[in-house]
Amino acid sequence: MPKLIIITGGVMSSVGKGVTSASIGRILRARGFSVNAVKVDPYLNVDAGTMNPYQHGEVFVTYDGGEIDLDLGHYERFLDVELPRRNNITSGQIYLAVIERERRGEYLGQTVQLIPHVTDEIKKRLLDAADGYDATLVEIGGTVGDYEQLPFLEAVRQLRLELGEENTVFIHVAWIPFLKTTEEFKTKPLQHSVAELRRYGIQPDALVVRSEKPIDKATAKKISLHTNVPASAIFNSYDVDTTYRVPLVLEQQGMGEFLSKRLGLPDRRPALEDWQSFVEALTNPKHTITVGMCGKYVELKDSYISIVEALKHAGAALRTAPKLEWISSDKVEERPELLEGKSLDAMVVLPGFGKRGTEGMIECVRYARVNKIPFLGICFGMQLAVVEFARNVLGLRGANSTELDPDTPHPVIHLAPEQQGLDRLGGTMILGNREVEIVEGTLARELYGSDKTVERHRHRYEVNLDYLPKMAEAGLVVSGWRTDIRRVEIIELRDHPFFIGTQFHPEFKSRPGKPRPVFYGLISAALKLRGEA
Ligand code: GLN
Repeated sequence: MPKLIIITGGVMSSVGKGVTSASIGRILRARGFSVNAVKVDPYLNVDAGTMNPYQHGEVFVTYDGGEIDLDLGHYERFLDVELPRRNNITSGQIYLAVIERERRGEYLGQTVQLIPHVTDEIKKRLLDAADGYDATLVEIGGTVGDYEQLPFLEAVRQLRLELGEENTVFIHVAWIPFLKTTEEFKTKPLQHSVAELRRYGIQPDALVVRSEKPIDKATAKKISLHTNVPASAIFNSYDVDTTYRVPLVLEQQGMGEFLSKRLGLPDRRPALEDWQSFVEALTNPKHTITVGMCGKYVELKDSYISIVEALKHAGAALRTAPKLEWISSDKVEERPELLEGKSLDAMVVLPGFGKRGTEGMIECVRYARVNKIPFLGICFGMQLAVVEFARNVLGLRGANSTELDPDTPHPVIHLAPEQQGLDRLGGTMILGNREVEIVEGTLARELYGSDKTVERHRHRYEVNLDYLPKMAEAGLVVSGWRTDIRRVEIIELRDHPFFIGTQFHPEFKSRPGKPRPVFYGLISAALKLRGEA
C-alpha cells in the first residue's frame, strides 16, 4: 500500500512549510526508509519556467530538465535525493491533462467535472509518485482556504478514505504569533485554520506549530483542546539559527517515532550523526569570508537560494561562514566605483537572463579579474566573464553575447548553430543533466578529482568556438566540455589565484556534507589568500 504524508499550511504563507516537509523527509531517511517527495502548486502555470524570480524566487532545475518550484530544492538537499520533474504538480498540469483528454473524446460524452475528473487525475499522480517508496511526502502549496487548493484537498481527503488511516497522515503547519504586549502566544488564527481544514473533511493527525520561540505546555494544551489533536502529536518548530537544524528539533520531539507508528513502519533508530555534525560545523565557523554576490535579482534573496545553500555547504566543510555581500548589477552599472569600497574575499557573478544590469555584471567580473579576487561565474556569470575577457584582454571592442546585443561585432557568446532559427522563448533551452568531460591539468580537474561529471543546465547561449584559439593564447582555458557535442562547459584563467566559470549550474547538486567542488574551491582559495587555510 502507498503511504502518504500530506502536509498543509495554515494562517499565512512563508512560515517554512517546505522546510518542515523536507525535515520530515530527512527524519525518515535517517531511519533508512525510502522517501519520495511531491510539491503541489495550486497555481495555473504548468511549470515555474516562465515565472518571474522577483515574485517567486529561484527556478529549481531537476536532472530531467524540469523547471520547478524551489521547494523541490529543499527536498533534494534535505533528503539527498534527485527528484524528477513530475514531482512538482501544478493545477495547470492537471487541468491541461483533463481538458486534453476531454478534447480527445476520452470521457465518452460524460460531463467533465472537478469531482471526479480533476480529483481523479490528482489522485492518480500522487499514487504514481508513492509507488515503490516506504513513504511519500505531499506538500500542498498555499494556505488552507485558498480557492485554488480545493481540488487538491478534496483529492487527499478521498485518498484517506481509500488508503485508510494507517497509510495516510495529515500534518498541518501553522504559525502562532507571540503578542509582546501581553507576553503570550495567540492560538486563535491556528484554531481557525484547523477549523477551515475540517470544513473540507480533513482532521489533521499532527500539527507543526511554527513560532518565534518555543511554546510552553499550556499553549500546547490549549491548541490540543481546540484542534482535537492530541498533545503527543503537537510538534513545535520554533525559529532556529539555521533551517538545517529543523530535522533535529522535530526528531527530538519524537516526530520519527510518531510517523513510524502511525504508518506502521518498523521502529528504527535514526542515524542523524552526520547531519548533526554538519549543523555544528555550519553554526560554529572558525573563519568568515565576504563573498560578493552580483546579479540582477538581489532584492529577493530566494532568487538564488540554491547558490546560497551551496556556499553554506562548502563553507561548513571548511569551517567558514560565507558572509554574503549582495551587489545589484544595476547599481554597479550606474556607479562602478561602488565596488572599490568593498573588501571582498570572493566574487560570484550569478545566473540571469536579459540585458538589464549586464554591464554592471561585466564590471564585477573585471574587478575580480584585475584585483585577483577568487571568482566564480555561474551560467550567465560565466558567459559574461568570456565577454569581459574578450573586451578587456583581447581588446575586442563591443564584444558581447547576442542575447544582449544581436548586432555585436564580436559575438563571443551566441546561439550555437543548431539552436539558431528556433523560437526565442520556446523549446531551445538546454535543460537538466549533461555529462561534462574535464580536461587534465586544469583547476577544474583538480577540484573535481575526476575526468567526468554530470551537472544540471538551464541556458540557451553558448561560447562561440571561433574565438577560442585567440582566447587560449591570452590565457583563457577551456577546462570542461560537453561529452555529447562540442560545447564549452567550464572556463578558467591561468594568471589568477582562482577564476572559474561554469556554463552549468553546480548549485543544484550541492548537499549538506557533500559540497560541490567549485564552491569548495572558491572558499578555500579565499581562505588561502587570507592566509587562513
Ligand atoms: N541567459 C543565458 C542563456 O540563456 C544564461 C542563462 C542562465 O544564467 N541560467 O544562455
